[in-house]
Amino acid sequence: MDTDEFIAGITAAAGKQPVSLLQYLYHIQYEYSYIPPRAIDRLAETLSLTPAHIRGVIGFYTFLHEQPRGHYDILISDSITDHMLGSRELTEQLCGRLGVTLAVPREDGRVTVTTTSCTGMCDQGPAMLVNGLAITRLDNKRIDSIAELIESDTPVEKWPGEFFQVTDNIRRSDILLDNSEEDDDSDGAALNALLEHGADTVLEQITASGLRGCGGAGFSTGSKWRLCRDSEADQRYVVCNADEGEPGTFKDRILLQSYADRVFEGMTLCGGVIGADRGLLYLRGEYRYLRDDLAAILQQRRDRGLLGKNILGQEGFDFDIDIHMGAGAYICGEESSLLESLEGKRGIPRIRPPYPVSHGYLGKPTVINNVETFAHATLIARHGADWFNSIGTDKSKGTKLLSISGDCDRPGIYEYPFGTSVRQILEDCGAKDVQAVQVAGAAGSTIPADEFDRCIAFEDIATGGSFMVFDQTRNMLDMVQNFAHFFVHESCGFCTPCRVGGSLLSDLVDKLCRGDASRYDIDEMSAIASLMKSASHCGLGTTAPKPVLDMIDKFAQVYQAKLKHSEYEPAFDLDAALQDARDITGRDDAGAHINKDTV
Ligand code: SF4
Repeated sequence: MDTDEFIAGITAAAGKQPVSLLQYLYHIQYEYSYIPPRAIDRLAETLSLTPAHIRGVIGFYTFLHEQPRGHYDILISDSITDHMLGSRELTEQLCGRLGVTLAVPREDGRVTVTTTSCTGMCDQGPAMLVNGLAITRLDNKRIDSIAELIESDTPVEKWPGEFFQVTDNIRRSDILLDNSEEDDDSDGAALNALLEHGADTVLEQITASGLRGCGGAGFSTGSKWRLCRDSEADQRYVVCNADEGEPGTFKDRILLQSYADRVFEGMTLCGGVIGADRGLLYLRGEYRYLRDDLAAILQQRRDRGLLGKNILGQEGFDFDIDIHMGAGAYICGEESSLLESLEGKRGIPRIRPPYPVSHGYLGKPTVINNVETFAHATLIARHGADWFNSIGTDKSKGTKLLSISGDCDRPGIYEYPFGTSVRQILEDCGAKDVQAVQVAGAAGSTIPADEFDRCIAFEDIATGGSFMVFDQTRNMLDMVQNFAHFFVHESCGFCTPCRVGGSLLSDLVDKLCRGDASRYDIDEMSAIASLMKSASHCGLGTTAPKPVLDMIDKFAQVYQAKLKHSEYEPAFDLDAALQDARDITGRDDAGAHINKDTV
């Protein structure tokens, strides 16, 4: 389609708002496989923005490109658990079959193959995205088939359906994943409870339940809703954070795929409690395959009177939900970055305070909760606070969804009451000879075997839901290196401690993996890590050094075996740098060589 016509169509549909810039760019990317210069100029004119501003936004998001990608744009997951399942070898196989270099479009423009951060399919990896759609369970055969389909120019819509199958893999359910008839979400039971008992009572129930944010931070949900409701404003918003980008986390995928009514009902409930009439679901770009189904469920809810004007016939109870797509930026899972992204900007974290409950989306009071939190709120409104807070521990009420991947027989989703031990979980998922578990993703904690009696709870091991298992055959340094590279890639670059510190740390980890590091480098890592922890602007920078620190504190044997020299190893190889000059001049001074064994 002609670019001008296409831009006119998408901007007219969304009311020509600068705040929708990211959504326009997202559509253009998938229509043309890049953002053509003409599209940037047209958007600039239509939205009264500068082309430089638009280019700045494009440059921030991994899934947006100013240069054409291949007609088939393939992104293979670079997550550590996919590495463990052979993703690197499969990537080589695909590149070899197609005759492409990684990250370079093939000369005929047919295909690009590159890697991306975790795609949220760790329970059924290795996984890839082709033109934004997930393909799971890659193996040699599937890779060969994909290469043939690309060479025969078969449209992605005609590729075998089983390639795109994403299963729920629910292995253990409790109250949240209960699918009994009583908890049928399509009847609006939680909203009926709101209308029957009133917003104050429902808010009291949410508070008394002890429900805390399930994205990992654990702030009291009732307090958050109350703070937002009590902020003076003519308009409030409800935002559902479905940008689960933490490596190894895929629980929100299941909730959105099979329990979306429960999530949307929780958002609507929140809207009714705080006095908001608009909700936004921020869906991570990797879950593009869910978007149409979610839009259909929203429409069904409107048709049943559970969304829109006068919900369930109650005059003045208005609430509706839009879906906004993310575009491949891990930092946008941080709530203030997410707000920037929702406003069509680069996802740079805001300075806080003020917090979103008083200054959120478009500067208005906003509740931002995780997908799982909203789903829990729906059930609490139906069944009451006592029902919920009778489960769990003193400080952690209810249940937690865990996304389990890595070295175990039964990867998938497990719902546990808070307080369940790591040991129990490992037994349930069929993990044997376990060396360590990484809980809460790349920014989380590495738990060694002597800590397996610790529990999943806010007061012990807090987690957003990622639970990656590593058996004794694994080199834990591979994990540390993978996470160090991940954080360099995902740093937004706004502040120096994270931008520079993360790169320095990653270089030192690489040096250690090469076997060139010394004790001095380990001390350097500690110093950089503590600086990042204390001086970074947001949670990404403060948690990024965690895997390195855990390795130093808890896995000394892992790095000690790799130390080449016990004291000092220069970062710069002077001899290698001088070699050309020595060869050309034919001069060499044996005494000028650095004798590493004596340094
Ligand atoms: Fe950006 Fe990292 Fe600084 Fe956070 S800590 S603002 S991600 S550079």
